[in-house]
Amino acid sequence: MTELYDLHCHSTASDGTLSPTDLVLRASQQGVTSLALTDHDTLAGLPEAQLCALEKGMRIIPGIELSTNWQNKCFHVVGLGIDPAYGALVEATTELQITRLERAEKIAMKLEKKNIPGALEAVKKVAGEGMITRTHFANFLMSQNHVSTQQEAFDRYLAKGKSAYVSTSWAELEVAINWITEAGGVAVLAHPLRYKLTANWMKRLLTEFKAMGGQGIEVITSRMNADEIRQAADYATRFDLLGSVGSDFHHTTNPYVELGRLAPLPTHIKPVWELLS
Ligand SMILES: [Zn+2]
Ligand SMILES: [Zn+2]
Repeated sequence: MTELYDLHCHSTASDGTLSPTDLVLRASQQGVTSLALTDHDTLAGLPEAQLCALEKGMRIIPGIELSTNWQNKCFHVVGLGIDPAYGALVEATTELQITRLERAEKIAMKLEKKNIPGALEAVKKVAGEGMITRTHFANFLMSQNHVSTQQEAFDRYLAKGKSAYVSTSWAELEVAINWITEAGGVAVLAHPLRYKLTANWMKRLLTEFKAMGGQGIEVITSRMNADEIRQAADYATRFDLLGSVGSDFHHTTNPYVELGRLAPLPTHIKPVWELLS
């Protein structure tokens, strides 16, 4: 059997629409042999995913996607192969849940001032026990016909500088990397091209990321063209980082993003799974 890795995806434990079980079943149908569940700031989906994967003969790599702060900008770091019972990480996710709830309350208040009431109740209902993210608010704004796409929700309300934006103090990049590595995991910079950094800033970021103990970078994510793959692979080579592959799958309605449907990692890039025994 050929190995097929997908090392970045989301379930209903954060802002995905599939339960951990349905996510694993879909990944298995897509031929994925090793799946990392990397919900935003929570480990809550892992036990269910692991149980289902066991039945399907699929391997689950315990993961998480942490929102982090570096130079007043938010960067996502994926932790792969973590011990989900590691005390400091468990504590951190509990704190992050409170942070996210407080942020959600503030966003809802700002929307209310814009004559859009009821957001908090609506997103809480959808998120259930899971983490509340801005995607939940974007979907709420769509459902109420205030916007027609998620992107428009961010552009008009939720993005930095917009009327319902709330600045949040995420963990510092170095702190988040430490949580991951102390929990036995590998810290991977997620979707590096999405931050729209200049070459200079990217160099600063990756130099510091590496110095702080970061070991990997996503070289393959969904919807990347050949040029972008070359660029991300070039970062991996220049900064001596292992390459990761991950769809960042959230829901079934995006035809461009599917579990396991990813370009192969360029052969000259050392794969991150060499560290995931
Ligand atoms: Zn992300
Ligand atoms: Zn993600």
